[in-house]
Amino acid sequence: MKEEAQEDVFSDRLDLKLWGRVFRHALPYRRLLIPLAISAVVIALCDASFALVTRWSVDSVVGKTEVNLWPPIAVYTGLTFMLAIGVWTFINSAGGLSNNMSHDIREECFKRLQELEFAYFDHRPTGWLISRLTSDCDKLARIIAWGSLDLLWAVCLVVVIAVILIVLHPVLGLLVLSVVPPLVVISAIFQKKLLLSSRETRKYNSMITAAFAEALQGLRTSKSLVREKQNLQEFQGLSSQMYGVSIQNAMQSAVYIPIVLTLGSIAAGIALWRGGVDVRSGGMSVGTLVAFIFYAGQFFNPINQIAQVLVNMQGAQAAGERVLSLLATTPGISDSDAVKARLTEWNRPGRPAELAIDGYPDKIEAIDFDHVDFAYTTGEPVLSGFNLTVSSGQTIALVGASGGGKSTIVNLAARFYEPTGGRILVNGQDLRDRSLDWYQSNLGIVLQGPHLFSGTIRENIRYGRLEATDEEVEAAARSVNADGFIRAMENGYETDVGEGGNRLSTGQKQLVSFARALLANPRIFIMDEATSSIDTETEQLIQNGLKAIFHGRISFVVAHRLSTIRTADRILVIEKGRILESGNHDDLMVAKGHYYLLYTRQFEAENEASLID
Ligand code: ADP
Repeated sequence: MKEEAQEDVFSDRLDLKLWGRVFRHALPYRRLLIPLAISAVVIALCDASFALVTRWSVDSVVGKTEVNLWPPIAVYTGLTFMLAIGVWTFINSAGGLSNNMSHDIREECFKRLQELEFAYFDHRPTGWLISRLTSDCDKLARIIAWGSLDLLWAVCLVVVIAVILIVLHPVLGLLVLSVVPPLVVISAIFQKKLLLSSRETRKYNSMITAAFAEALQGLRTSKSLVREKQNLQEFQGLSSQMYGVSIQNAMQSAVYIPIVLTLGSIAAGIALWRGGVDVRSGGMSVGTLVAFIFYAGQFFNPINQIAQVLVNMQGAQAAGERVLSLLATTPGISDSDAVKARLTEWNRPGRPAELAIDGYPDKIEAIDFDHVDFAYTTGEPVLSGFNLTVSSGQTIALVGASGGGKSTIVNLAARFYEPTGGRILVNGQDLRDRSLDWYQSNLGIVLQGPHLFSGTIRENIRYGRLEATDEEVEAAARSVNADGFIRAMENGYETDVGEGGNRLSTGQKQLVSFARALLANPRIFIMDEATSSIDTETEQLIQNGLKAIFHGRISFVVAHRLSTIRTADRILVIEKGRILESGNHDDLMVAKGHYYLLYTRQFEAENEASLID
């Protein structure tokens, strides 16, 4: 995917606008900015002042008959104390600021992902989204947390040293400062090279990890096909490439450090040469010369730091852009302004109790598809002028060959997508005129391969209605026939279901998800192909459980196993987005049309399978 390919793109220019937008997240914490700025300046001043104290000490000794070093020692101690307080304040406020900012960004991303409509996810693979939430947010957080901290400290230190040098001796100051521009350029070039080669090393590292994993998982197959030699050759190739990249990385560091050290020595040499002349002519004190040499050696660290942070910021720009674009994405399905206005009205005291949160009657009595058109991709219609009316208490079953549009119909009924033409009505009103939260809080959905969250069975059922009591949880499980198997388990309702519920069988997961749906007591119940791939005994349990759920609601069931929907009020045979046939099981069997064929074929296939068993 295009955005995936941008992952490792290195921007050549620092996008100040982008970083401005990132650091706008600091605004809610501006009270931390004042102590941060003050402490950064205090630290830089203290750091830079040590050389001045040295100068003072040297000048108090050189050529003096009476030596009193106590005043410089007292100032030195005072500076150390101030530095400690400055560092404490700096780390505290910078840590508070950066952690709050990265926490906010991560939380906003998560919140946005929960708000976005399904169509957004259709175009973005889960892996891509997970990287946005983890790796991209992490990259940004690191820049915000440590990058900005280092940058602030380094810039302050360089500025303070530069000012002191110019004030102490303008000519010598400018001479020493002349090494700064080449130092900046060289640092920037090498830091970029180092960043790129360390990325490359990481890439090979993960390829090698994957190769190890694959070799171990496929060990039997490789052995049986006598492919060990070939595998080893492939691995050796990968390992040599990794070796090459790592050596290159080490060589770059090996060149970079001496160059920078040489530049520092050149600055110190200039100070010694030009300053020595001045000392001899009496134009400069020995202490000032010592201070100059000290400062010349102090430049390398902050400049290296600045270059490193700026290069890292360039490297993280792509991540920043992706995170900001996610945050700037507005949900395609959300409440209209009119609905929002009604919600505000509803929040006023004295509203009539029988109204839903968006000001209309609360109880859902009917859903209508009124000439609904729908396409996932422009120009490829899935539904055209689709009509359907469902009233409270009715169960509608959708059957037919795969790709006919059954899931699309239930997705539209759930308002996971919106029609591209026509309307869906709830109690005769356009669904878009009702609150999304209100409508979706009336839905209960069980999908194929139902998802359970890590935790106990009780917690998973209670997820349907968080405030439900233990008795209500158990009653819901009893109604859908899940109580028996739950109690038969070692820890009963407290059994840990494992990640994604993988310690339960598919049928058990379905029963738990039915209990969860029933507990939520939804007005509309949607089940999408939930009864495929289970044994006959569990299916019987599920069928009886379903009766409890269907009762008194509007239910849409997409089922492969036609036996599940024999009791449905209306069965629709769907093909290419159209209703081919409609009626109850008995009527359709008598009509001997499409449904009859589907049913008898499935029945025969099941009989054959049971004979083979
Ligand atoms: P069914 O449930 O009957 O198997 P679907 O409603 O899933 O049918 O699919 C109807 C058509 O829409 C198919 O052609 C399918 O390829 C297409 N389709 C389904 N989901 C998507 C999607 N998320 N993005 C693009 N096309 C889709």
